[in-house]
Amino acid sequence: APAFNYGEALQKSLFFYEAQQSGKLPSTNRVTWRGDSALNDGKDVGLDLTGGWFDAGDHVKFGLPMAASTTMLAWGAIEYRDAYTSSGQLTYLLNNLKFVNDYFIKAHPSPNVLYGQVGNGGTDHAWWGPAEVLPMNRPAYKIDSSCGGSDLAGETAAAMAASSMVFRSTNPSYADTLLTHAKQLYTFADTVRKKYSDCITDAAGYYQSWSGYNDELVWGAIWLYRATQDSSYLAKAESYYANLGTEPQSTTKSYKWTIAWDDKSYGCYVLLAKLTGKQQYVDDANRWLDYWTVGVNGQHVPYSPGGEAVLDTWGSLRYAANTAFTAFVYSDWLTDATRKSRYHDFAVRQINYALGDNPRKSSYMVGFGANPPRNPHHRTAHGSWSNNINEPAQSRHILYGALVGGPKSADDAYTDSRNDYTSNEVATDYNAAFTGALARLYKEYGGTPLANFPVAETPDGPEIYVQASVNATGPNFTEIKTLVVNHSAWPARALTDGSFRYYFTLDGSTTPSQITLTSAYNQCKPPTGPTLFSGKIYYVTIDCSGQAIAPQGQSESRREVQFRIASSGTWDPANDWSYTGVATTPGSTPVTVRNITLHSGGTTIWGDAP
Ligand code: BGC
Ligand code: CA
Ligand code: CA
Repeated sequence: APAFNYGEALQKSLFFYEAQQSGKLPSTNRVTWRGDSALNDGKDVGLDLTGGWFDAGDHVKFGLPMAASTTMLAWGAIEYRDAYTSSGQLTYLLNNLKFVNDYFIKAHPSPNVLYGQVGNGGTDHAWWGPAEVLPMNRPAYKIDSSCGGSDLAGETAAAMAASSMVFRSTNPSYADTLLTHAKQLYTFADTVRKKYSDCITDAAGYYQSWSGYNDELVWGAIWLYRATQDSSYLAKAESYYANLGTEPQSTTKSYKWTIAWDDKSYGCYVLLAKLTGKQQYVDDANRWLDYWTVGVNGQHVPYSPGGEAVLDTWGSLRYAANTAFTAFVYSDWLTDATRKSRYHDFAVRQINYALGDNPRKSSYMVGFGANPPRNPHHRTAHGSWSNNINEPAQSRHILYGALVGGPKSADDAYTDSRNDYTSNEVATDYNAAFTGALARLYKEYGGTPLANFPVAETPDGPEIYVQASVNATGPNFTEIKTLVVNHSAWPARALTDGSFRYYFTLDGSTTPSQITLTSAYNQCKPPTGPTLFSGKIYYVTIDCSGQAIAPQGQSESRREVQFRIASSGTWDPANDWSYTGVATTPGSTPVTVRNITLHSGGTTIWGDAP
């Protein structure tokens, strides 16, 4: 039997991309706790920029990592399509690739315009709540011919070209559309040469283009060559290769880092080696992967005692997974037996480490394997209603398939803390090459995707409901303090047309005209009624429409209404339907009451009428 169920891990890894979907959810989305979100994206610039992926545990749509993740996912599908097919996961992969490419098409409305970010990093990160009720404005940012971004445009060209190869056999017209965009974007990248984060300056604080754009100009050309077989792209890739970064004070191509959202040089070494067989590329790929394994001139990437190759503090498992995937692709092509097994074994070891073969004997993939992370740094999966990363203590959803950042140094240490975005955030770029590596492992070792996945989640209690207590009581009145509460998370949603009804029974010969309604404190509208329900039962209505009661913060998630029903006739609350279940000690904390009904427009969404 395989060390881990790679089929299940692959299945879950793809599911994670559905949890990241922004905009109107497609019918193929399998996440029962997600809903539509960010439906106004692009309105500020007169465009529809809905769709695409939320980047990580936040809700910004960052174009560079989104495109880089897409290229890596597509690359995995190109290399190991048979594994996707035989595991039954190809459809899910295609659905997810289609969803993100549909967004790239929208984000590229003309040849030299590409929207590279929607949402502002500062305002987005300052709020902690679910995607479905985002309260902030989400500005759109672009590059164009007056302020370009060769890295962003080059990577998006790579993503669309690679995706076109994936769709070529099943949806050729879509593949053609993607290729048209990819060619235009590559020309734009090659012509308006600039770093995108010098134009979309808000991105500089999060996804600054550290490595510049020369790598994306090689990378984009490689993918266009692969997608078109047009040798002029290969010629460009080979000629721009000379501009790739080198180790300090040397002409040796960089080898002490790895392929990730910023720097694709390492992917270029491997792909140009495979495409041309030329020694220079082979040497550069070997040196890089030797640094990650046996070492170069006595130096190698730091290894933890438990076997993790730890390149950097933030998201260490992602760097290990990216290197593992690329090592698999290279190893599968190599004929040199020593290196072939060296890089293969390295890749198997790193992915197994992430899945649970580590000193903690714990999985780093949410919802998979032994003792997996339960509280990743992810706003929507947490499901807070109070804009509070610590409330509730345990995340309300299982973010199946997400790879967390992992140990911060080469010490195998990790704590499952939601507050720690360095080691416990998740991201579309963390899972991308990882998914391809899982497909490769499935191909070699097998595994079985779960038959009943996903199982729909059950809400942890009432989502939108009423609480009440007695405020004051007298011989001819009852005064109630009521809270309309919205803790929804399946999915999170606002209540904008809410109203509730308090039912009571008139006593003796008292008539409705003897009833007066007042309100000492009211965040909704004044009470109206009484309205006849049946017989001697009447109800008072309190209308909360026109405002959004939403899980966006402590005060945003509830409305308080204190109202008094007084009678000039007789008054006995004991037989009043809605009085049952209310906390009756005056001034006590409101409790959840089912006998006050809550309505959204004409639909009863909570409670029981008499
Ligand atoms: C956000 C994370 C982000 C980090 C660094 C935090 O406030 O929640 O999503 O990665 O800031 O920008
Ligand atoms: Ca770059
Ligand atoms: Ca009564």
